[in-house]
Amino acid sequence: MNVDHQEIEKFSAIASRWWDLEGEFKPLHQINPLRVDYLIQQITQQARPSQGYPNDILAGKRIVDIGCGGGILAEALVEHGASVTGIDLAQESLTVARLHGLEQGVDVAYHCISAEDFAVQHPGEFDVVTCLEMLEHVPDPSSIIQAAAALAKPDAPVFFSTLNRNPKSYMMAIVGAEYVMNLVPKGTHDYDKFIKPSELMRMIDETDLRINSTMGLHFNPLNREYYLSNRNIDVNYLVFCQK
Ligand code: SAH
Repeated sequence: MNVDHQEIEKFSAIASRWWDLEGEFKPLHQINPLRVDYLIQQITQQARPSQGYPNDILAGKRIVDIGCGGGILAEALVEHGASVTGIDLAQESLTVARLHGLEQGVDVAYHCISAEDFAVQHPGEFDVVTCLEMLEHVPDPSSIIQAAAALAKPDAPVFFSTLNRNPKSYMMAIVGAEYVMNLVPKGTHDYDKFIKPSELMRMIDETDLRINSTMGLHFNPLNREYYLSNRNIDVNYLVFCQK
């Protein structure tokens, strides 16, 4: 199976802290509103390019979030009216996600299943597919990308995000984030598993997805805030595809 058990153990060990806004997952909480806005904007532009920015574009949409963890993205998408399924292989994270959903009254369907197996069971069923900050944790990211493509309905938007691999991303995502600023625990990321945009694009090209656009996600160490910018995709980046 396409899973690194050490990765799953790493996430399971800190699963209780998924919703601690000041804990190990703080960066994911901080980037969440940015990426939700980005998703909504891209989906809106694709669906109705001339009609501005309605806030109901996700209403009633069936979305699958691959590598959902504690449900940070999944819950936000439900709050925008979507019907969301979250899948992950860390059982502990899903337990925390379910409990948090119950507490908040946010209904997400969580399943502990691989993306590949889930795609065999639910081919072409989803209006939107998301797979954020997950590809750099698996042995074979192209297999996840194929599963994401298989889960999407024709024309459906599919989003990936991951970390680029170059000296700057090493300095920012490993040295800076793990050792200097202690933004995430040491050992969170393995530099060798970072994915260059050219590599990701080659993997996407092997599926029936096509790439619409990319976006950089940046961290400002001075005010410790994140922002989206197209200036570069040197470190963390999002890719918006369409089936
Ligand atoms: N996508 C979420 C969580 C990112 S953390 C977010 O952006 O908020 C990475 C997640 O990928 C963890 O929850 C981890 O358990 C999950 N993961 C790692 N390897 C996996 C695999 N092979 N299959 C499914 N999920 C995996």
